[in-house]
Amino acid sequence: MSTTSELLMQLQGLDYQLGELERSKEYLPDMIENLEGEIKAAKNVLDETQDQLEATRLEHKRLELRVKDKTSELERLKSQMMQVKTNKEYDAISREIDHARNEINSAEEEILQAMETIDTLTNEVETKKKELDEITQTNTDQLNTIENEMNSVGDKIKIKQGERENVLVRLDKPLVSVYERVRRGKGAGAVVAVKNRACSGCFKNLPPQLVQEIRRGERVITCDSCGRILIWDSDNSDE
Ligand SMILES: [Zn+2]
Repeated sequence: MSTTSELLMQLQGLDYQLGELERSKEYLPDMIENLEGEIKAAKNVLDETQDQLEATRLEHKRLELRVKDKTSELERLKSQMMQVKTNKEYDAISREIDHARNEINSAEEEILQAMETIDTLTNEVETKKKELDEITQTNTDQLNTIENEMNSVGDKIKIKQGERENVLVRLDKPLVSVYERVRRGKGAGAVVAVKNRACSGCFKNLPPQLVQEIRRGERVITCDSCGRILIWDSDNSDE
C-alpha cells in the first residue's frame, strides 16, 4: 500500500470514528431520558399504590367511627324502649332499632372488605418499593456510565480531530478536495480498494492498465462510474 493510500484509509477511518462520536452525542441524551423515565414511572406506580392504601385506611377509620356512633344510638334506643307507653311508640322505636342494627352490620362488612384491601395494598406497596429500588440501582449504574461517556465524547472528538489534522497535512490539497467532495456524495465509503480488478464501491470492472496505475499509486484515480477514490490495498486487492 502506498503512503497516500494508507493516509487516505486513515483519514476515512478517522472520519468514520468522528461520525460515530457525533452520533453518540445525539443518542446518549435519549438513553438518559429513557432510563430516568423508567425510574420516574416506577416511582409513580409506588406513589399511586401508597395513596390508595392511605385512602383505604381513612375509609376504615371512618367506618369504625360509624359503627361506634350507631352502637351508642342503639344503646340509647334500647333504653328508650324500656320507657315506652304506647304501641305506636313501641313500633316507631323498633323500626329505628332495626335500622341502626342494619347500618352497623353493613358498616362491619365494609370494615372487613377494607381490611382485606389494606392487606393487599400493603403487600403491593412492598413489592413496588422493591421494584423501584431495583430499577433505581440498575438505571443509576447505567446513567453513570453514560454520563462518563458523554463527558469524554468531547475529549475523544478533539483527539480524533487532532489526528485528522496530522493526516491532512501529509496529503496533497487537491487530493483532499477530491476526498471531501466524494465523501459528501458517497458518505463513509469515499475511498475503496480495487478488488477482482473492479471498484469495490460499485463493482465496475477496471481496465488492466488502470489497475496497474492504481497499484503504483502515482496519481489519484477515481472510479469513472461512481466517482470514489480507488486505492491499492495489499490486504484486499488482487489482480
Ligand atoms: Zn466505482
